[in-house]
Amino acid sequence: MDHLPIFLNVDGKRTLIVGKGVSAARKADLLLRAGSDLTIVTPELGEELSQLAETYSFKHQATGVTAADLDGCMIVFGCDEDDSLNQELRKLAHEAGIPVNVSDKTEDCDFIMPALVDRTPLLIAISSGGTSPLLVRMLKARFETTIPAAYGKLAEFAGSYRDRIKKLIPNMTRRRRFWEAMVSGPVAEHLFSSQLEQAESLMESNLEEAAREGDQPPPGEVYLVGTGPGDPDLLTFRALRLMQQADVVLYDRLIGDGILNLVRRDARRIYVGKLKNNHTVPQEEISEMLIDLANKGKRVLRLKGGDPFVFGRGGEEIEALSEHDIAFQVVPGVTAANGCAAYAGIPLTHRDHAQACVFVTGHEKDGKLHLNWDSLIQPRQTVVLYMGLTSLEAITSGFINHGADPQTPAAVVENGTRAGQRVITGTLDSLLDKTSQAQVKSPALIIVGSVVTLREKLSWFEN
Ligand code: SAH
Repeated sequence: MDHLPIFLNVDGKRTLIVGKGVSAARKADLLLRAGSDLTIVTPELGEELSQLAETYSFKHQATGVTAADLDGCMIVFGCDEDDSLNQELRKLAHEAGIPVNVSDKTEDCDFIMPALVDRTPLLIAISSGGTSPLLVRMLKARFETTIPAAYGKLAEFAGSYRDRIKKLIPNMTRRRRFWEAMVSGPVAEHLFSSQLEQAESLMESNLEEAAREGDQPPPGEVYLVGTGPGDPDLLTFRALRLMQQADVVLYDRLIGDGILNLVRRDARRIYVGKLKNNHTVPQEEISEMLIDLANKGKRVLRLKGGDPFVFGRGGEEIEALSEHDIAFQVVPGVTAANGCAAYAGIPLTHRDHAQACVFVTGHEKDGKLHLNWDSLIQPRQTVVLYMGLTSLEAITSGFINHGADPQTPAAVVENGTRAGQRVITGTLDSLLDKTSQAQVKSPALIIVGSVVTLREKLSWFEN
């Protein structure tokens, strides 16, 4: 991150602006609304600042800025058309150790001003760190249209109950659930329709109910969520919603940062993937962790690459949960075969090529592939092999030795749907060489069948 986002309390604190015009007026407006004791240094106020003076009071100083003027200031702003005055202010501020902002010159700023979506007391600040004001404006417009004006009222209403609820529901998990129900339930609806009295009386009855229920942790549950092959855009709405409300998340190697960043910020993260020494957390241990956390009342998010029920051992995990009477739900994800096929431009079925498609694992057990070759080597069929990179040699020679045409088209998709996606195409007898030459790494998926030739025309994803 280039900047640290914070919200500064300037209420009653001294601040100073040098300059006039739109930029100065915009900053002055924000500072004054936040209750600051503001001094504006400029020979004449000009139109915008004079207008502001009709609503707010601030000090106007017509003579140039001196070190004494900065005394006790929390932050200062250089907004003058004459940049030498801004630079003078910057120098004085730095000598006094006061952060300074210079209009339109990110490189001269100790802090920058974000764009705001104002639903006071709810504030959304947006910044691109000065790189793309257009993008910021677009995002701001999007928030402005999707966040109801009444959200400010909701935040204020919630704030007025905060202390009471904290005392009444000491258990943090329960308290969180209470708030969630409030902001997405009928209380909020009443507020959005300006029915303050109804909102208050419903809130009172909810509080009475919470008091009756006591302070036991609420029952926990487990969300088994498929995240797709890597591109965060391929998440389902349901996956995203559950990711946003989880207390703990268990994830492994296949889950990229782009997806992990969408999990609720303060959810505890537990990595259960392969470690450096190639040791994996045994399945039973993961299941035990899920049970244990859910029994503590947590909402546990188990993230799985692709789809949890396709070579994901998701079935085993929820079997253990069901044996322990723990509530769970399963969210399907785009499986690697679908994601890789789409992003590589290789349709898995096609009227002229394949009427069937088989997903198998190419993982060797005891150094051997256990595949039913006869069922794989069928005309007009696509075969997709998961976990087959390390056994690619056994796979391609297996196909050929069991009677497949060595010229059968085949592909390896590395890092499918992600920024580093690579697709190696060839035939059963050339794929191994091409793949080792390209030094393909995991995760990679193998696709065998004449559909692979379609990529030449249908490839679209560039990265
Ligand atoms: N449940 C997952 C599969 C887990 S098994 C799913 O439905 O996709 C792990 C294997 O999936 C990897 O060895 C690889 O073959 C494949 N895979 C997962 N993500 C992939 C990706 N982004 N690109 C290529 N292959 C991937």
